[in-house]
Amino acid sequence: MAKIKDITDFLEQIAPRAYQEGYDNAGLLTGDPKMEVKGVLCTLDCTELVVDEAVTKQCNLIVAHHPIVFKGLKQLNGKNYVECTIIKAIKNDIAIYAIHTNLDNVHTGVNRKIADCLGLNNLRVLAPKADTLTKLETFIPTQHTDEVLNAMHGAGAGHIGNYSHCSFRILGTGTFKPNDKANPTIGQQNQQEFVEENKVELIFPSHLQAQVVGALQKAHPYEEVAYYLQPLKNTNQEVGAGMIGDLEQPMSEQDFLAHVKKSMQLNTIKYTPLSHKPIQRVAVCGGAGSFLLGTAMAAGAQAFVTSDFKYHEFFDAEEKIMIADIGHYESEVFTKELLGAFISENFANIATYLSEVNTNPVKYF
Ligand SMILES: [Zn+2]
Repeated sequence: MAKIKDITDFLEQIAPRAYQEGYDNAGLLTGDPKMEVKGVLCTLDCTELVVDEAVTKQCNLIVAHHPIVFKGLKQLNGKNYVECTIIKAIKNDIAIYAIHTNLDNVHTGVNRKIADCLGLNNLRVLAPKADTLTKLETFIPTQHTDEVLNAMHGAGAGHIGNYSHCSFRILGTGTFKPNDKANPTIGQQNQQEFVEENKVELIFPSHLQAQVVGALQKAHPYEEVAYYLQPLKNTNQEVGAGMIGDLEQPMSEQDFLAHVKKSMQLNTIKYTPLSHKPIQRVAVCGGAGSFLLGTAMAAGAQAFVTSDFKYHEFFDAEEKIMIADIGHYESEVFTKELLGAFISENFANIATYLSEVNTNPVKYF
């Protein structure tokens, strides 16, 4: 029987918590990670009604995109909807797990789902993040090089885009002189040794440092393993905000709006004045995306599908791009399908449900 931690660990392989924004509060908000999972309820928001639904569906794990606890709580006495929701979850032994900006920031996450709904191709992250990668250099005796490299690959090192097992090696000579307390694999105490070694370089996502260095040290034959770690300024093409891609065929602005409305099941779209240019390249960002408008324009997007634009921010389109503000809930509601698919594909024996509660706090008259 799977435990809560098995599911959260699995979700964090997809969307590591290291990729959440500094203001966020993703992770296990209530519940014991060692508790056995009876059923999982996936939702965009966790509200009291969703906790009631979990009780009815006999689920003891709610996986939500938005964290119900976002700021510090100083009391817990039911004076607002956040406290009421948490109290009800704890009383009913229900764990609440939030997978928020970390799921926004991975290329298989929230924005990928929107891009798929819109039928976009040639997808890439709109604003790839820097400072998420580390380079490791190490020195391995030639006959052990492949074994040590494979151990590091197994721990997540050496992935670049669609390529795995990426590394570079150059042959050279390593030198060392063990003292009389050493227990050298090669050579003798108090004698300088010269060994044919490969200098190997490879990169890995920085949050995997403990695993990668651990794998190196475990697989390397030497008592003392020499290695250097270097944080990289490179952007990571698989991690960052928003996504951009192309429609199969260019569309008129009207056709595009109709297409967005149909594919995202919308009643209303707020959009900027038409410029009568065809639309093919489209940027998307689930939730509040106005901070990406300049990036979307610079990347050549003719339309930007997102939400939560303020009045004055609509002016910034200047007829160079069409802003299509589809609503925060509407832009992210399909995230529960994404979460449900991740979990049910990997935990086939656990009942996984999508919440039927419409949690949208915004109503249209
Ligand atoms: Zn959101």
